[in-house]
Amino acid sequence: MPDTRNEQDASELARRLQRIDGRGYKAYQDIRGSFVLPRCTLYIDHVQGDPFAAPSKLRVRVPMSEAALPAELFAGRVRRVALCDFLARAVRRAITRHGTGHSREHGDRHDRGARGRRERGRGSDAGPGDGSGKSGLIRIDAGGQEVLERSAVVIAPDWVEARVEVGLPAAGRRVLGRKAEQLLLERLPEIVLAGLRLESSDRDEALRFVECVENQEHVRTHLAKLGLVAFVGNGAVLPRESGASDRPLCDASVVPFRSPPELEVAIEVPNPVAGGGAGDATLTGMGVPAGVTLIVGGGYHGKSTLLRALERGVYPHIPEDGRESVVSASTLVKIRAEDGRRVERVDIHPFISELPGGRSTRDFCSDDASGSTSQAANIVEAVEAGASGLLLDEDTSATNFMVRDARMQALVAKEFEPITPFLERVQELHRELGVSTVLVMGGCGDYFEVADRVIMLREYQPFDCTDEAREVARRQGGERRSEAREPISAPIARHPRAASFDASRGRRELKIDARGREEIVYGSDPIDLRGVEQLVDPSQTRAVGLAIHLASQRLMDDEHSLGDLLDALEALFDSRGLDVLDPYGSGDGRNPGNFARPRRFEIAAAINRLRTLRVDQGRD
Ligand code: ADP
Ligand code: MG
Repeated sequence: MPDTRNEQDASELARRLQRIDGRGYKAYQDIRGSFVLPRCTLYIDHVQGDPFAAPSKLRVRVPMSEAALPAELFAGRVRRVALCDFLARAVRRAITRHGTGHSREHGDRHDRGARGRRERGRGSDAGPGDGSGKSGLIRIDAGGQEVLERSAVVIAPDWVEARVEVGLPAAGRRVLGRKAEQLLLERLPEIVLAGLRLESSDRDEALRFVECVENQEHVRTHLAKLGLVAFVGNGAVLPRESGASDRPLCDASVVPFRSPPELEVAIEVPNPVAGGGAGDATLTGMGVPAGVTLIVGGGYHGKSTLLRALERGVYPHIPEDGRESVVSASTLVKIRAEDGRRVERVDIHPFISELPGGRSTRDFCSDDASGSTSQAANIVEAVEAGASGLLLDEDTSATNFMVRDARMQALVAKEFEPITPFLERVQELHRELGVSTVLVMGGCGDYFEVADRVIMLREYQPFDCTDEAREVARRQGGERRSEAREPISAPIARHPRAASFDASRGRRELKIDARGREEIVYGSDPIDLRGVEQLVDPSQTRAVGLAIHLASQRLMDDEHSLGDLLDALEALFDSRGLDVLDPYGSGDGRNPGNFARPRRFEIAAAINRLRTLRVDQGRD
């Protein structure tokens, strides 16, 4: 509960700012506290150490009577998460309109060039207001094309709150008190109110946004009942603007998705569908069935684009993303080869039996895994973490892991080939472990024999060619022999040792940072997440880093398996929200920093890539 006893009124903040005007920057520490403004309350939780440091962390809380958010917009968990995401975007738009802060419109976080320039400019750029360092900056952590649970906006029964970062104004290293007064008492409240208060036109947009997300989540919860692992709506636009932008491609070349008739399903959803007829609340599109699904087709005919959409489909998308009708089961995990990664005691023997020199692979360790061993470890770890399906693309797979054809079998005797290719295991994965696979494969027809469905892409259009593929396999079958030595078994549970999650560095007790989306600095080691492709937002990356730390502080006793830890973290997020990740928070609701919720698979992936990770195997 907020402690209202310490709330001051706005004139007190003005007085303090006047008092410290012209003094050294450290004097800004005096303005910490909470201040009641005419239409909102301002919480100054953390004050930056100098003008060039990470900006200060504030919250602006608006009473519900002022914000007037219609209750239907945030009734239930799904709508609440969606509306918070929407409001964060609305505040960001208001910031952009006011010409304050970095414009970070959706999609531009993939613009590496722009981000690189900003980061290089760090410490020397003139702030958006005049003044040194980050003077005058206002920023909120809103999302890209995906809709995620975020810490940026919180809705409570009586109020709604935006968590923002603000660069307190300075000239050199001196406090600019007047500027700060104007920023904190006028500009900031005005901007946040403009974002959080829904004018009637914004209400329609908010309702469409929330309904669109709710439809996606509805489809997700119904996939399993329909025997599907994913759904791609007719009319979806899958290709992206460019390799560096996650926005939809929109030019005349776009071929909207249309399901092959054999795979078409219609799913009723709770809300009207954009582009449908009036009151039409049905989504029609391609159901990707559980089992083994092969995506084939010539090079450049759209295979990887479809798979990418399925990868991202584990998250809801914003309206007009083009993929807002692409919905995957939340337990689908992209698998790729990732040579160089570390692997800690993973039982990869279903795929790779003993290595040269007779080394066992039942607790395989490597500081520098190969393409095939890394891909095997990625699969076993995903299944250990609870994956119900795997997404693989030939473009990012190790060839020797995927196939071993008849000629190679004839030349290289099985006794000298430790690899049992994925081809030999893919059906068993489904039959024995309930793990489906969607595999892009343009280069090897051996997979026709093991696929339940074959989808061919021709000029970006999908066709069901399951029967033809079977026929081809029958006619030109059978040179290669099955070589698997023993049946596949479920992964052995691993128990991380608490000591391996030490986040200290030198004299600092806690050093955890996200460097963009792809790297966490954890204690003295970086965690390389370039190969973890379903991590989509830098704020998820940051959350993953702190989730590992949280697990070590609160959840671990060496007895827990990795799966137990992931369960416990998810339960904490569900009950306490992302604020629980703030290592310095005391549950008082202060601005915890910028977090977006990661899935358990990405948390597991980061833990598995920790170079300090040590586990004990199999005491379940
Ligand atoms: P593949 O994996 O089959 O080689 P990709 O998925 O990489 O092909 O797609 C090749 C190119 O075609 C990409 O530039 C992609 O943006 C574009 N593309 C994919 N799907 C479509 C589509 N439905 N409409 C228009 N262009 C598309
Ligand atoms: Mg491809």
